[in-house]
Amino acid sequence: MTERRPSPSEGRNLGPAPAVDPSQPVRAGTPAEAIDLMRQSARVRLGLSLTQRQLAAFAWYLDELVRWNARHNLTAVTDPMGIAVKHFLDSLTLTPYLRGPESSRLVDVGTGAGFPGVPLRITHPSLRLTLVEATGKKADFCRHIVEGLGLVEVEVVHARAEDVARQANHREAYDVATGRAVASLPVLLEYLLPLVRVGGRVLAQKGESAPAEVQQAAHALDLLGGRLLQIHPIELPGVAEARYVVEIEKAAATPAAYPRRPGVASRQAL
Ligand code: SAH
Repeated sequence: MTERRPSPSEGRNLGPAPAVDPSQPVRAGTPAEAIDLMRQSARVRLGLSLTQRQLAAFAWYLDELVRWNARHNLTAVTDPMGIAVKHFLDSLTLTPYLRGPESSRLVDVGTGAGFPGVPLRITHPSLRLTLVEATGKKADFCRHIVEGLGLVEVEVVHARAEDVARQANHREAYDVATGRAVASLPVLLEYLLPLVRVGGRVLAQKGESAPAEVQQAAHALDLLGGRLLQIHPIELPGVAEARYVVEIEKAAATPAAYPRRPGVASRQAL
């Protein structure tokens, strides 16, 4: 048996402990501890009180992600704490930028194992969500999660964004389009802006290169009908790297020429 050393603050009355210290790396933990950390951080940082039912949904999602990851390489983050913070909580950091009924149709492009779309749908049951994913096994996993959680009005589309954006029922059909860790901003905008209605918004989740990517995307914004609203800095507990949400408004219709044929955006960014 290993003995646990008492921490220096133990036994002293220091008031409620901070949910998590962002300067400390995310420690290892069981799935139950990971879900609890997420619950606390969602409340403290995002003002989101997750219900028992929502917590149970996240716990099941986490278990399934760990289980599927053992067979298929769905995501690089595979430990419970990492999944709870870097996938679930990071997805939920978009919450302040959703605007109720104005954001009711949301498309998440390159969703992978469902991020950020599925966590947002768990906490916002009125979202009508479309998940777009080019890799079959990831789209299969998303279908499994959507069915297992009994989520209605969620569509999983196994296709490339460039093809989806040319379909009449998807083009300019969404209030909000999201993308996390999919492509550089100019490329991502060619995938997302054609899907958004005029007056709708793009929410791109980006790392420390966000401000530079916004500069590089000036031409793409111009061509595709986008207008930068704001670059929001985001803090995640235990994650030192800078993170941002780039919020863009669709100010004008996207010309029919965009997106270009599948693969062209990423080879020759605007
Ligand atoms: N958004 C998820 C996954 C990121 S990995 C997350 O943050 O965890 C990027 C994903 O985008 C991959 O699963 C890849 O298959 C998908 N992808 C890349 N280009 C795409 C395109 N043009 N259309 C649809 N999916 C695409």
